Amino acid sequence: MQQHRIVVLGAGYTGATAAGRIAKRLHRDDVDITLVNAEPDFVERVRMHQLATGQELRTRPFAEMFAGTGVRLKLAQVTAIDADRKTVTVEATGAGEESLAYDTLVYALGSGWDDQGVPGVDRHAHQIASRPGALRLSERLAQLGAGQPVVVVGAGLTGLEAATEIAEARPDLDVALVARGGLGDWLADKGRAHVREVAGRLGITVHEHAEVTAVDADQVALAEGRFVPSAATVWTTGFAVHPIAKATTLEVSDTGQIVVDRTMRSLSHPDVYAVGDAALVEGPGGKPLRMSCASGVPTAWQAADALAARLAGAEVPTVPIRYFNQCVSLGRKEGLIQYVTADDRAKKAALTGRTAALYKELVCKGAAWGVAHPTVGMPARRRRVAPGA
Ligand SMILES: Cc1cc2nc3c(=O)[nH]c(=O)nc-3n(C[C@H](O)[C@H](O)[C@H](O)COP(=O)(O)OP(=O)(O)OC[C@H]3O[C@@H](n4cnc5c(N)ncnc54)[C@H](O)[C@@H]3O)c2cc1C
Repeated sequence: MQQHRIVVLGAGYTGATAAGRIAKRLHRDDVDITLVNAEPDFVERVRMHQLATGQELRTRPFAEMFAGTGVRLKLAQVTAIDADRKTVTVEATGAGEESLAYDTLVYALGSGWDDQGVPGVDRHAHQIASRPGALRLSERLAQLGAGQPVVVVGAGLTGLEAATEIAEARPDLDVALVARGGLGDWLADKGRAHVREVAGRLGITVHEHAEVTAVDADQVALAEGRFVPSAATVWTTGFAVHPIAKATTLEVSDTGQIVVDRTMRSLSHPDVYAVGDAALVEGPGGKPLRMSCASGVPTAWQAADALAARLAGAEVPTVPIRYFNQCVSLGRKEGLIQYVTADDRAKKAALTGRTAALYKELVCKGAAWGVAHPTVGMPARRRRVAPGA
């Protein structure tokens, strides 16, 4: 029997998890699994604010992570997909273009920053959605002297983490945070009060109910006509997916995310699965999942298990996908664990202080560890692929 060719695009939290889990679910002789990624080591995106403040992160080479698993790593940039002919075009440095044929595709290319078309952002602002972006910001921060202003735009989870991390690491800088609404307004009372208290303690100036309309080299403009001086502007107003899926015949949403069913299978192309930030997934309460590791990793488990079960002709299992908490670092010594409902609404309860910082650190470590151990606690039952699948 010919091996079933599975190509997984992207080795972030979700693609790497999906590839490893599929390899543990199906018999080695029956499948050929290729994982395509642009970089040779795993990037812990959830720690990019740490990298931006000059902290060293542990290197996690894929060659070690996937040694002996049956997953073949292809280091290359994905440039196009033909979802009807079932091919992916990739470009490896120095090796030119190559076409990879697949029987089943798992799309996990994640996301990058979203400049939202605000004038000047693409030229003057920094981003921490990627490693190159975080390293550039780190260089810029190192050039700044005492008293120079840094403005973080966007006070969601990423902006809060970035502003507090910078303020803690560089107390000599004048850090400001621009929030479209009230600071932490989605949190419950205890969590909101804690975020305010920590921001105050770290000397962060918060501009609430403010909209940035333009970014220049030395300032940001607010809609109300005010200007906030800035020697380094950090743009954290959300993530946007890469345009590759949108350029295919795959059904995508307005956001460019691949539209999938409950098993992460594309609605338009049943031989394609999409996971993580790249997928538009309906979560609890019918709300789309937010781009996060917290919900992205379970989508990878679900896709891997559904794909393997279908190939083996077995019943498709359902992996629970829901939220439990929002884990926010507020520098290295402070944190907030905001407990939430299944559909991500804040409950009253929250953990704060050093315990929360430690909890968050364990969550980050656990997320990276889980990528290398995608079936921990579950029987790694390797099924045979059914003939003709
Ligand atoms: C600073 C920061 C803090 C965060 N904190 C949290 C948090 O506390 N909790 C939480 O749940 N979420 C957090 N997130 C969000 C979380 O990191 C993302 O939701 C998560 O990384 C999505 O996983 P993914 O596998 O879909 O994509 P990614 O992790 O982005 O992985 C995509 C992979 O695809 C590769 N790739 C992309 N394009 C190509 C291409 N064309 N060719 C080849 N390879 C390509 C990339 O190199 C990468 O390896 C944070 C994000 C940031 C930036």
